Amino acid sequence: MIIFKQAGDLTGCIAQERKNGRKTGFVPTMGALHQGHLELVKQSRGENDFTVCSIFVNPTQFNNPDDFAHYPITLEKDIEQLLATGCDALFLPPVKEIYPPGHIKKHYELGRLESLLEGLHRPGHFQGVCEVVERLLDIVRPDRLYLGQKDLQQCMVLSRLLQLTGKDKEMELGIVPTVREADGLAMSSRNLRLDAAQRAKAPLLYQALRHIAGHYTSTPLDRLKAEAVKMLEDAGFAVDYVEIAEAESLEPLDAPSGKMVALVAATTGNIRLIDNVLLN
Ligand code: AMP
Repeated sequence: MIIFKQAGDLTGCIAQERKNGRKTGFVPTMGALHQGHLELVKQSRGENDFTVCSIFVNPTQFNNPDDFAHYPITLEKDIEQLLATGCDALFLPPVKEIYPPGHIKKHYELGRLESLLEGLHRPGHFQGVCEVVERLLDIVRPDRLYLGQKDLQQCMVLSRLLQLTGKDKEMELGIVPTVREADGLAMSSRNLRLDAAQRAKAPLLYQALRHIAGHYTSTPLDRLKAEAVKMLEDAGFAVDYVEIAEAESLEPLDAPSGKMVALVAATTGNIRLIDNVLLN
């Protein structure tokens, strides 16, 4: 695995791959890698000739400075895991490679996605995500971009970014199902920050979503959401939202209709966890 720190070197390497008729898959991450990230790498390896993973803890997408300050970093282990998974290149840029002097902040027109759920509860977050991903895509210019369904709204935002920038004509988007721990907890880098008591109750997010999935055809959605919130609050979580939404738009639903998704965001201590489950 080649490790790149300079954007220009990586761009040059991938241009050479392209010249040789080889397809590139790209997996952007913030590190503290787990099996969820590695599934994205595996899918890319299966569908492309060359797989690039990036690790960059992007300061501009953190709306909470404490979350940024405590974001886990496990670089040595990350490199070992990427090697074992057969990743071809790792991009490990310093901040100035991503935001060089003179970098101009844009505004991305994300529409309703920015005022719903994560957009509402993390102001500015998706602008920062678009900023870093547009820059990374300009550097890597992959044929395929791989994202995790765990961050469903982020997948939608980035699909919109591809349209807004015309990159949807150059690359495909691959969305990989959420990888979970044996007890159902969605794998997440932030899980590393949970203490034993918090870790023990963290699977409740998934249980609350399973409760909705098991009853949405027979119980009013408002009641189900309230039950799910109560499950979490009784265990001491601060709940940002439990929502049942239309899967294509994430617009909240009053009654079952079409393709649906249940989503949750809740905090224990100062660690905020999210999860979602497609209902049909
Ligand atoms: P992050 O490092 O948290 O920014 O995540 C990098 C990519 O990995 C994003 O596309 C995430 O959606 C994806 N990802 C994170 N956790 C999981 C998981 N448990 N299952 C599948 N994909 C995931």
